Amino acid sequence: MSTNTIFTDAASAQHNASVAQNIARLNLLAPGSTCSDDLKSNPWDTPGGYGPGASETDEVPAGYPVQGSIPQEYLKASDQELDARILAAKETLGERAVILGHFYQRDEVVKYADFVGDSFQLANAALTRQTAEAIVFCGVHFMAETADILSREDQAVILPNLAAGCSMADMADGPSVQQCWDELTELYKDEQDDGRLPVIPVTYMNCSAELKAFVGRNGGLVCTSSNAATVLEWAFERGRRVLFFPDQHLGRNTAKAMGVPLEQMPMWTPRKALGGNEAATLRDAKVILWHGFCSVHKRFNPGQIAKAREEYPGVRVIVHPECPMEVVDAADEAGSTDYIRRAIADATEPTVFAIGTEINMVNRLAAEYPQHTIFCLDPVICPCSTMYRIHPGYLAWVLEELVAGRVVNRITVPAEQQGDAKIALERMLAARP
Ligand code: SF4
Repeated sequence: MSTNTIFTDAASAQHNASVAQNIARLNLLAPGSTCSDDLKSNPWDTPGGYGPGASETDEVPAGYPVQGSIPQEYLKASDQELDARILAAKETLGERAVILGHFYQRDEVVKYADFVGDSFQLANAALTRQTAEAIVFCGVHFMAETADILSREDQAVILPNLAAGCSMADMADGPSVQQCWDELTELYKDEQDDGRLPVIPVTYMNCSAELKAFVGRNGGLVCTSSNAATVLEWAFERGRRVLFFPDQHLGRNTAKAMGVPLEQMPMWTPRKALGGNEAATLRDAKVILWHGFCSVHKRFNPGQIAKAREEYPGVRVIVHPECPMEVVDAADEAGSTDYIRRAIADATEPTVFAIGTEINMVNRLAAEYPQHTIFCLDPVICPCSTMYRIHPGYLAWVLEELVAGRVVNRITVPAEQQGDAKIALERMLAARP
């Protein structure tokens, strides 16, 4: 396996076995504490909430998707039985199905993935499997939607557990963003025309297809954590300001690195008049940040970095830009999941890495690169709760249904959103600073 590839294309059985062994060892050595005792049980019963993990205390929006019950046999099956059934179904389906695993997905599921990567990499990876009739996305809802937008009409995108959403994406809903947009449009309507739009909407990939379509319709575009600066450059060439949602931290960290003063980055709090701001503040703004965040990355703090530096002098601290600004400022580097992965893969000398991102990814990197010392800045085991909902039982169920000729849990973006959302994604791909 090349260490420079952006995807881990289903690694050899030997490699997988050695990684699994290392993960088991790491789990034994890991601190005994987890953020929730419920993590020890299977995620079958999490009605009306995000379930155990980093976002369990977040407010769950009305209309949150619910996963119907699946046959008892999948709930009762042992790990060995599920393993045998998944492998058998995968073999029967062959090239007709491709399984995608997000970097943050649990190891018991990722081991069956044909590709492992971030959300946009995975959606593009699926396009390389022209023979695939089914794209089984072991990630969260917005990722499956993006794959549906980019895939052919005759390909079915399947999310093994419909309740696997993203608490950050859920923090920006269509009506709230539309209301914000209407208020801003009214506020800026009398500004002098300088050839640029008063405000350009930019959404992080982690949002619903409805919002991707919204930005496409309103002259804006999508960004990822890898290209947020490029996208903001594009937007500043065409607009006087940017409305950035749903992640305030990615917006703030990126704009700050580009020299935008914090005073010109007010926060928009939904359901408050003018988002809780004075009109003058919004007129002077360069980037209006939505009040959204990732509960996984919000757990990191500068104290953890200070402790890592004390315990491991010379440690290289890399954090994800969804972390709060104080954490990014205290770290040595900040970058996307792919950046973190490449930084470790490219390190030629044994190095100590302290990483600020989701625990499953950090443990997997530690297992894959035993020549380095790699640990998560957060000593408590606290996975992304929504990603955690994809249990091997659900994967076995959707695969065996496909073998039987039935497509369950298909994610379909409505036709009226497809076109505009695709425009927003295409603008992102075409964006040049
Ligand atoms: S890690 Fe955060 S942003 Fe990513 S899927 Fe989980 S809640 Fe959403």
